[in-house]
Amino acid sequence: MVKPTLLTVDDDPNVLKAIERDLRAHYGEKYRVLRADSGDAGLELLRELRVRNEAVALLLADQRMPQMDGIGFLSEARKVYPDAKRALLTAYADTSAAINAINEVKVHYFFLKPWDPPSEHLYPVIDDLLEDWTASYRPPYEGIRVLGTRWSAGAYEVRDFLARNHVPYQWIDVELSADDPEVKQLIASIGDDVAHLPLTLFPDGTRMFQSSPAELAKKIGLRTRAETEFYDFAIVGGGPGGLAAAVYGASEGLKTVMIDREAPGGQAGLSSRIENYLGFPSGLSGADLARRAVMQAQRFGVEIIAPQEVVELRSEGPYRILKLADGSEISCHTVLIATGVQWRRLEVPGVDRLQGAGVYYGGGSQEAISYKGEIVYIVGGANSAGQAALNFAQYAEKVVMLVRGDSLSATMSRYLIDQIERTPNIQLWTHAAVIEVHGETHLEEISVHCSDTNTVERVPASAMFIYIGALPQTDWLQNTLERDELGFLLAGPYLRKDGKRPEGWTLDREPFLFESNIPGVFVVGDVRHGSIKRVASAVGEGAVAVQFVHRYMAKV
Ligand SMILES: Cc1cc2nc3c(=O)[nH]c(=O)nc-3n(C[C@H](O)[C@H](O)[C@H](O)COP(=O)(O)OP(=O)(O)OC[C@H]3O[C@@H](n4cnc5c(N)ncnc54)[C@H](O)[C@@H]3O)c2cc1C
Repeated sequence: MVKPTLLTVDDDPNVLKAIERDLRAHYGEKYRVLRADSGDAGLELLRELRVRNEAVALLLADQRMPQMDGIGFLSEARKVYPDAKRALLTAYADTSAAINAINEVKVHYFFLKPWDPPSEHLYPVIDDLLEDWTASYRPPYEGIRVLGTRWSAGAYEVRDFLARNHVPYQWIDVELSADDPEVKQLIASIGDDVAHLPLTLFPDGTRMFQSSPAELAKKIGLRTRAETEFYDFAIVGGGPGGLAAAVYGASEGLKTVMIDREAPGGQAGLSSRIENYLGFPSGLSGADLARRAVMQAQRFGVEIIAPQEVVELRSEGPYRILKLADGSEISCHTVLIATGVQWRRLEVPGVDRLQGAGVYYGGGSQEAISYKGEIVYIVGGANSAGQAALNFAQYAEKVVMLVRGDSLSATMSRYLIDQIERTPNIQLWTHAAVIEVHGETHLEEISVHCSDTNTVERVPASAMFIYIGALPQTDWLQNTLERDELGFLLAGPYLRKDGKRPEGWTLDREPFLFESNIPGVFVVGDVRHGSIKRVASAVGEGAVAVQFVHRYMAKV
């Protein structure tokens, strides 16, 4: 923990050195003693400390300084650190100015120079002031802080990235907390740059405005490049399928690398509560499952590269080569594609423009708290929409589920329907389809077509979360791997056409279960044609695929 600061300001270098020495001798163990040689330098330092969220306990300034005198400095400093104790160093002739300062700018004490011996003239008073300060002191938050507005797509991207990578952070909504004195001081310290939010503040004092996931990853120390160029087993996608394969592969001695374009955890990481995963009778959040699995994979020595997108797969003889978005390449004996599916887009006017500013695809559990006391719309009627509705209902005043059909029974599991029916602030709006969303800078209203009455209703909305099914994004594999008409990848028995093995297949055996039309390239989880879209199925497939990786490598 960073120690609270005692700041002393004086233009006379000898006095500055002497006061610093005396303060350090007595308070150095518990406090950090800093100095500045002018009022301006002192204010600049305080603003920097404010942005770093560091505590300042005492300000001690000489009254006689050119440009800005001690009283001038303390009255400005009070705007940045109103709770710090303020004291003046004065000569006898300045006594009346100092007394006035006690009343006018609330200076807590004035010392007469010289203060020797400090044990008599300095420490007793400062001890008293610091005791008083400590009584109401709350240690400031020391981790990463993100400043922005909830309507900002950039702020949403930063928060989503940090949450998905399990990096703790404090979110400061500058609009909602505009009246908070600490936030006011922080914004004042940032100055004109406040126009470039979102701002990510790191404990070491680094400020990053409008940062991209790649910049954040670099700063946080996430690995975005491979350590070596050759692996036994390279996994594309860090969802449950990829993570399970990574854990089994590495624990069985394969040199394993796993690459994810966002963060390990995949879609499961977005789920607020997975209730049907074996061994967790009261359910667990997707983020928790992902965090545990990532720790397990790392313990077995899996190298995790994220965020980094794989953009190409090719074969060179027995080697499989993956090209990454940054242009680098990874060679390996075997590849596992576990890239899952991505949300389908809602193609109605306004959605693209307001995405991230009140309109979201999916939406992690951490979002719910932002909508305390507001009206949230959920589009979709499948399990993921049901989980989201229950999650938002804990905070929102009302959650409205918009579904096209006349009930949820055809699309949602019974246990979720029962929970929704028992939750009074979830309203089901059937025969309803969003046809347009409205708002200048953020979502304000949505237009809903009611198919039973053939009317359109325009209603106010704070946020709309879209869960309307998902499709694989496999265009980067279209010239290498066999796909079905929706883009799902074919593997194992699904590759047989008219009783024949896939075109170009040269081995004298059938493709293994989960093996694609390229030997040594396997496919598991939601991206595989014919898969069951469940966490447990993806995990099972990932684990089983590793057995075929061993069998393939035994004969390469
Ligand atoms: C909100 C929600 C709730 C759910 N609830 C449940 C539930 O309660 N129970 C249940 O059993 N199932 C649930 N599911 C379904 C379950 O999450 C999926 O079936 C499961 O996550 C599929 O795992 P996967 O490994 O195949 O792929 P995913 O989890 O989709 O992971 C794929 C990963 O691949 C990465 N990726 C994609 N393309 C690339 C590329 N080119 N380069 C690098 N990386 C790439 C993605 O970033 C992603 O992290 C839910 C899904 C959602 C969205």
